Amino acid sequence: MNIDYKALAEKYGTPLYIYDFDYIENRYTTLKEAFAGKKSLINYAVKANSNLSVIAHLAKLGAGADCVSIGEVKRALEAGISKYKIIFSGVGKRDDEIRMALEYDILLINLESEAEMKRVEQIAKELGVEARISVRVNPNIDPQTHPYISTGLHESKFGVEIAMAKRMYIYAKKSEFLNPVGIHFHIGSQLTNLEPIREACGIVADLVRSLKAIKIDIKFFDVGGGIGVVYDDEVTITAKEYTEAIFAMTKGLDVTLLCEPGRYMVANAGAFFTKVLYEKLNEEKRFVIVDGAMNDLIRPSLYSAYHKIEAVEKEGEKTPADVVGPVCESGDFFGKDVQLPPLEHNDLIVVHSAGAYGFTMASNYNTRAKSAEVALEGGEDRLIRKRETYEDQVRLEREYLVK
Ligand SMILES: *Cc1c(COP(=O)(O)O)cnc(C)c1O
Repeated sequence: MNIDYKALAEKYGTPLYIYDFDYIENRYTTLKEAFAGKKSLINYAVKANSNLSVIAHLAKLGAGADCVSIGEVKRALEAGISKYKIIFSGVGKRDDEIRMALEYDILLINLESEAEMKRVEQIAKELGVEARISVRVNPNIDPQTHPYISTGLHESKFGVEIAMAKRMYIYAKKSEFLNPVGIHFHIGSQLTNLEPIREACGIVADLVRSLKAIKIDIKFFDVGGGIGVVYDDEVTITAKEYTEAIFAMTKGLDVTLLCEPGRYMVANAGAFFTKVLYEKLNEEKRFVIVDGAMNDLIRPSLYSAYHKIEAVEKEGEKTPADVVGPVCESGDFFGKDVQLPPLEHNDLIVVHSAGAYGFTMASNYNTRAKSAEVALEGGEDRLIRKRETYEDQVRLEREYLVK
């Protein structure tokens, strides 16, 4: 497809997120097909990109949702995901969030501690309902990735150890208000190696076998998210390799397989477009200053994440430059020593692979308005979120202003 990004940048303004909905569909279908022959449900991890139109697009394809706040649950429902395809995970849930999740009657509440189980039981009792629950097990696997995004080790705040999980299932089985039907793990993000997934799957499958032996019938086996994607030149896992590893490790178990991909679905569907304000030379150092900033896309600042950066339709001899935003922080950059041609005011820069953890991590730091978001589908472009205004930002403060 030949897309005129310059025209889109003119039409919608910059900074701007553009998502290729056909790519998202292709990713979903590829993964779903890799599960062929097994009972499966793909629960899109809403936190990766929670735009209502993105979720709705996946809902139409049959996806479920993995949510980490009641806000995300509401987004999933509003976007048309069936309540029986929604999971509520997360290491801390407020009472009101638990109550609403029970009232919405979603598929599963995923428990991350014994204390949380007791809260859910108490609230289910107050409502006179039985809560369908799963327990997030921490299989103590090192996913061999960045420490900030690895979650499956004992030192991590997520999940519970195997022995504790077993105690929780036994308790839940006896409770009038808890129905333990699922098991869950999620060992980390941007996994490019199958081994940790295989290992975790094996450990958790053994636990399921021992639970089934004592009549605790686990129906949903949730392998979490984390399938790695290509940002640079990574060699990552294919959908087929992923599901075959899961099939091998869960052999003989009568369960519905759930997975919760976020990044895999949307990272490479999205790009972030920003315009050059000016170039600046400090001694030998070249800076390209753009109108987007860390408040729009924080991954480079937060995780030193790499994003491929290019100038759109611009020729010329390339030299290294740091691409930086206007925010008053030294950490405000998109890329360091990026090879770029000479650039002028209003030239367009694209930051690739920005569809996951891009807009959802955006903030209003420096009273910068959040960018607009645009969908491309079947050769057509359409706005899916308006650019924020100054008015939007002060709306909740203005009535309290004392002059
Ligand atoms: C963040 C998260 C995901 C999604 O991770 P990706 O790396 O984007 O696939 C899935 N499940 C849980 C519990 C998460 O916290």
